[in-house]
Amino acid sequence: APIDRIRNFSIIAHIDHGKSTLADRLIQRTGGLTDREMSEQVLDNMDIERERGITIKAQTVRLNYTAKNGESYVLNLMDTPGHVDFAYEVSRSLAACEGALLVVDAAQGVEAQTLANVYQSIEHDHEIVPVINKIDLPAAEPEKVKAEIEDIIGLPADDAVLASAKTGIGIDEILEAIVHRIPPPKGDPNAPLKAMLVDSWYDPYLGVVILVRVIDGALKKGQQVKFMQAGTIHLIDRVGCFRPKIETLDALGPGEIGFITAQIKEVSQTAVGDTITDAKRPTAAPLPGFKEAQPVVFCGLFPVDANDFEKLRESMYKLRLNDASFSFEMETSAALGFGFRCGFLGLLHLEIIQERLSREYDLDLITTAPSVVYNIFMNDGSMKELHNPADMPDPVHIDRIEEPWIDATIYVPDEYLGSILKLCQDRRGIQKNLTYVAGRAQLTYELPLNEVVFDFYDRLKSISRGYASFDYQQIGHREGDLVKMTILVNSENVDALAMIVHRSQAEARGRHMCERMKDLIPRHLFKIPIQAAIGGRVIARETIAALRKDVTAKCYGGDISRKKKLLEKQKEGKKRMREYGSVQIPQEAFIAALRMG
Ligand code: GDP
Ligand code: MG
Repeated sequence: APIDRIRNFSIIAHIDHGKSTLADRLIQRTGGLTDREMSEQVLDNMDIERERGITIKAQTVRLNYTAKNGESYVLNLMDTPGHVDFAYEVSRSLAACEGALLVVDAAQGVEAQTLANVYQSIEHDHEIVPVINKIDLPAAEPEKVKAEIEDIIGLPADDAVLASAKTGIGIDEILEAIVHRIPPPKGDPNAPLKAMLVDSWYDPYLGVVILVRVIDGALKKGQQVKFMQAGTIHLIDRVGCFRPKIETLDALGPGEIGFITAQIKEVSQTAVGDTITDAKRPTAAPLPGFKEAQPVVFCGLFPVDANDFEKLRESMYKLRLNDASFSFEMETSAALGFGFRCGFLGLLHLEIIQERLSREYDLDLITTAPSVVYNIFMNDGSMKELHNPADMPDPVHIDRIEEPWIDATIYVPDEYLGSILKLCQDRRGIQKNLTYVAGRAQLTYELPLNEVVFDFYDRLKSISRGYASFDYQQIGHREGDLVKMTILVNSENVDALAMIVHRSQAEARGRHMCERMKDLIPRHLFKIPIQAAIGGRVIARETIAALRKDVTAKCYGGDISRKKKLLEKQKEGKKRMREYGSVQIPQEAFIAALRMG
C-alpha cells in the first residue's frame, strides 16, 4: 500500500474495558471474518488469556477499510500484551505504531494500568484517540469519564468517540478517527532495509514466526537478512500478514507491519526489539531502545510426584520454544527432591507458566517462595547475582547487598486509601505522590520488589475488595539490610523454606512461618522445636507438643479393616517422608507450607 494510506495503531485499555471486543468488532466491520468466525474472540486465543482477560502474546491484524471519502486504507491493529510484566514488549509494540485508541470503560473510568500504558504511548509521540466504551450500560457516565481523561491523563477528550463494542455503536466513527486523526507512517523505500522485530512465536507448521515493522527499505522472500543485536544471518522464506487469517505477500515496504519466517527453530534466537537489516547492504545503526529480556523473579518448581521430573523437564523445554523470556536450570532440595530453578519476567509471568504446566501438561507442581535478583557485593570487590537464597554466601565475606526497587502507581477509591497507605508503609515503601481525582486517590510509591513478590498484590486486592489497581516499573537496585532467614525443624535446616528478607521484617516473617509449620507437622512422641534463624541466632520459635500415648492407642484401635487401611496409608506416606533428625515430616507439610504462599 502507498505509505500515506497506512495507519498503524494499538489499543490501550485497562483489563476488561473492552479491548478484545472492540478489536473483534473492527475486524468484523472491515470484513476480515464472517459472523460465524466472529463467535470466538479472535485476539485472545489462549485459554489462560481468556480466563484472566489478559493478552500474553501480541498479535497484529491487517484491515482494509474504505473511508467515507472513498479512499482505501490499510489499518494495522497491533494488540499489545496487557500486563506490567511485559512492559518492554509493550514498549516495542507501541514503537511500531503512530497512534493508539485509548479505550476507557464508561462505567469504570480511568484505571492505573490505563495510565501507565497511555504515558508510554505519549512518550512514543502517538496520536491518541479516546474511546469511551460500554455506553450501552445503564451505569455509563461518559461525561464524567471525559473529565477524568482530561484531569487525570491530561488529554483533550472533547472529541472522544462514544462507543459500545458490544452493540456496535460508534464503530464507524472509530474507523474514521483512525484514518483522519492518526498520522501515516514515514519511511524511505530506497534506504537500506531497517525493520524492527516486534514479537515472535513458535508455530508447529511454519516454525518461528516473526512479527516485523518495516521502517525503511523492503523485506522480500529470498532476501538475506541480518539480525543486528543477535549478529545472525537468515534467509527469508515467507513474507505475509494476518487478516487475521494468514496471507502471503510479495514484500513488506516502509511503514508496513507483517510477518516473516526464515526457518528459525527457536524463539530464543529472536530478540524482541532487534533490528533486521539487509545482510549485503546493512543500515548504519540499529534501532534505539533495545533491551535483552531479563528474568526478575525466580522460584523453584518441583514435581509433587518425583516420577514426574522428566515430564516436567520436557514440558518446560516445550514451553520455552515459545517463550524465551522464561529460564530454568536443575535444582535439588532436601525437602522437595529434584526440580528446577526458574526465572520469570514478573509474578504474573510465573503464574502463567505454572498454570500452563499444570493445565496443559497435567503436572502437579509445588513452587518455592518467589525471590528477586539481589546483587551481592563481596569484600574482595567482586559482585554476584543471587537468584536462590540457598546460594547466599557467608555474610562475613559480604560487603553489601543491593535489591531491586520499583516505582508503583496505585489507583484506589478514597475509602480504602488508609489501609493501602499502611500496606505500602509496612512494605518499606517511600511515598512519592498522592493526588485525588473524582473521589479516587492516585498514589505513587517506591517499593522494594521483594516486598511486592511477597503477596503484595493479593493483599492490595483484598484490602480494596478488588477496586485498587496497581502498576509498576523497575527503577534499579539499592542497598538494603538484607539477611537470609532459615527455618529449622528439630534443629535441622529446611532448605526449601529459606528466604532473603529485610532485617526489619525477619522476626514477623519468621514467626509466621514457624506457626504455620507447627500446624502442618504431625505430632511425634517427643517435642519438636521449630525455629526461624538468621545465621546462628534464633529469632522465632514454636514447639510441637509430644503426642500422648493414649491418643495413639485410640487412633489405632477400632475395626480391623480400618486399621489395615491406615497402615496402607502410612506405608504410602513413608515413601514421601523426609527425615529431620529423628523427625519425619511428610512432604505434604512442606507443600502445604509453600502453598499458603
Ligand atoms: P479486554 O480485557 O479489554 O480485552 O476486555 P474484553 O473485550 O474481553 O471485554 C470485557 C467484558 O466487557 C466482556 O464481558 C465483554 O463482553 C464486555 N464488553 C466489552 N465491550 C462492551 C460494551 O461496549 N458494552 C458492554 N455492555 N459490555 C462490553
Ligand atoms: Mg482482552
